[in-house]
Amino acid sequence: MKLTIKEIAHVIHAKNDLSALTDQTIQHIEFDSRLISSGDLFLPLKGARDGHDFIETAFQNGAIITFSEKKVPYPHLLVEDNLLAFQTLAKYYLAKLAPTVIAVTGSNGKTTTKDMIASVLSEKFSTYKTQGNHNNEIGLPYTILHMPDATQKLVLEMGMDHPGDIDFLSRLASPDLAVITLIGEAHLEFMGSRKNIAKGKMGIQAGLGIENELIAPADPIINAFIYDNQNITRFGSGEKLSLTKLVEHKEKLSFNTNFLEETITIPIPGKYNATNAMLAAYVGLKMGLSEKEIKKGLATVQLTKNRTEWKKAANGADILSDVYNANPTATRLILETFQTISPNKNGKKRVVLADMLELGQSSAELHAHLLDHLDFECLEKVYLYGPLMKNLYTAAHGNPAVVYFETRDDLTQAIKSDLQPNDQILFKGSNGMKLFKVVETIEKNSPSSH
Ligand code: ATP
Ligand code: MG
Repeated sequence: MKLTIKEIAHVIHAKNDLSALTDQTIQHIEFDSRLISSGDLFLPLKGARDGHDFIETAFQNGAIITFSEKKVPYPHLLVEDNLLAFQTLAKYYLAKLAPTVIAVTGSNGKTTTKDMIASVLSEKFSTYKTQGNHNNEIGLPYTILHMPDATQKLVLEMGMDHPGDIDFLSRLASPDLAVITLIGEAHLEFMGSRKNIAKGKMGIQAGLGIENELIAPADPIINAFIYDNQNITRFGSGEKLSLTKLVEHKEKLSFNTNFLEETITIPIPGKYNATNAMLAAYVGLKMGLSEKEIKKGLATVQLTKNRTEWKKAANGADILSDVYNANPTATRLILETFQTISPNKNGKKRVVLADMLELGQSSAELHAHLLDHLDFECLEKVYLYGPLMKNLYTAAHGNPAVVYFETRDDLTQAIKSDLQPNDQILFKGSNGMKLFKVVETIEKNSPSSH
């Protein structure tokens, strides 16, 4: 990191006596004292415990200085608010290294699209991106302060839990280009309505500037929130950017667009991933990459773990595991994908659905409405799990293909006794429902193995 202690103190307006501070450069900034190593700066944050309690450990691990909101018997930079100081420093560091910033937000597909954009841009530029899912008021400055000195393109994921979050992150990062993947129903619990979600996501314009391009879905719900004269490019059928052909295979998909000559193939299933990849391709074009480079970047994309993934059950059955998060839009889309894939010879298709969390007031209804998206011509059985899925069970009016389980153990047992080697089974639910545990058991332990 090219930051000296003196420089940092100056940027964050540290209030203590700074005369003893040196021109020493710090190595990294960490807020987890266990990650601190020699030459680092420690950032105490308030979580379940007060980060100030870990200052001693941080110094034992090699910290040379810490931010602090009170006087402590260690070299420190005294500020009113450690997090604010951290964010101020990130803003300064970003301006200092001055990479091109690409911001990605949306209800679903942020991490995926961010990974795809970075994969494309890496074909030509030194590119850094949000690691994992660190997309909030801590993760975003953390990403900025961890980018390598030589970074030319920085791809930042921006997440939203509450109104105003994206506005704040956008002002912090001042993107040169921004992408909104989708206005869905995620986080309805805190946001209230889709309109509020749209308003929240459109906060991305706050730091973008009207001359910089915003890439946004055709969805009219955002129209009321577009800034006057904003440079905006819409995607979706009939728009400036659209998919013209989509061919789905079990483990990959190919598509064409109305702005590229090349057919693009990505090594990931899921219809929505064609849209994510199309957005990444467009960003690549904007950044001056050739179609060949874009095609190559997308052919080799690797997603952050635990997104849509094919696995094998111990008995040979195919598992489509998509258990990292769930909301009605994402669930509908993965059901469409799963139901379109050709079945294995003599094999059946099964679907396991667990509760979609954090949907707020209309939660019961949103669960029940999934019934319209289940194709019983194609599905042998639908396994429901969790108190909210009871609504879907009730809506199914005693359809014998729909079964309900109160506990994960009962669910696991039922799947184990039903699942045949030629079957395909989809798992979808919110992370909090821990369907990944069921997937793990099926992977290791199947009816044929005992
Ligand atoms: P989070 O809010 O947890 O950060 P995210 O927006 O980063 O989520 P991803 O992690 O990229 O989203 O994808 C999560 C899931 O959302 C995927 O596994 C898939 O089911 C679904 N999904 C991905 N892209 C889209 C899309 N463009 N439209 C709808 N659903 C999508
Ligand atoms: Mg994410």
